[in-house]
Amino acid sequence: MKSFAVAVCGPSGAGKTTVARALVDRSDDFVFSVSATTRPTRPGEREGVDYDFVDRDEFEAMIRNGELLEWAEVHGELYGTPRANLEEAERRNRLLLLDIDVQGARQVVEALSDAVTIFLLPPSFEVLMDRLRGRGSEDESRLRRRFETAKKELACLDEFQYVVINDRLDDTVERIRTIIAGERQRLGRRDAEIAELRQQLQEGLDRGYL
Ligand code: ADP
Ligand code: 5GP
Repeated sequence: MKSFAVAVCGPSGAGKTTVARALVDRSDDFVFSVSATTRPTRPGEREGVDYDFVDRDEFEAMIRNGELLEWAEVHGELYGTPRANLEEAERRNRLLLLDIDVQGARQVVEALSDAVTIFLLPPSFEVLMDRLRGRGSEDESRLRRRFETAKKELACLDEFQYVVINDRLDDTVERIRTIIAGERQRLGRRDAEIAELRQQLQEGLDRGYL
């Protein structure tokens, strides 16, 4: 089975990180793409697991050296996907799961035409607020900034292939797994598997057994 990338996007607080982590924890199909970022570490976050925390100089060097598959500035900080993540997923025959912003998703689709893009929505504005406040990682000014970004992200919803409403986590995980199961049946992803069977059928039909 050909490896491919799956980008999960959506407004801050929609649940991208939670959903991506749950998908990785509950199945061997995915490799989580650990991004590089210049933003400060939040309590509980681990270097190399949640992010690769780097300073601006290091990040800029990664850009210069062509090490990033995509990168973007979000809320004044730099975030990017190391190309090495994709190579690792391909080597392990897994899907690369990206928790990235809309600007990043556009670059991924440009670089990888077979990428799958999923837009995650919270079930309501009230729930979005509760989730952002509940996460406790933001003061009011940062929260306001995230709202502004969320507005812009929401405007890009139509660019995505799939939309999933993240109400109950279990349901969200199941919906995304269903999407992936469908995507795996696409012809372009099964060329190698189909080729032999197709040839065998063709030869049989050519010989004819009537
Ligand atoms: P994002 O990565 O999109 O900014 P997070 O994954 O950090 O969002 O989630 C924001 C908050 O919402 C977190 O506190 C998380 O625990 C909570 N959350 C995410 N998904 C769900 C869900 N399906 N049900 C309940 N809480 C959720
Ligand atoms: P946070 O700071 O809340 O972890 O992430 C802020 C935003 O940056 C989220 O929308 C998240 O999806 C996005 N993000 C995280 N990593 C990357 C990345 O590697 N590339 C891009 N373009 N966006 C990222």
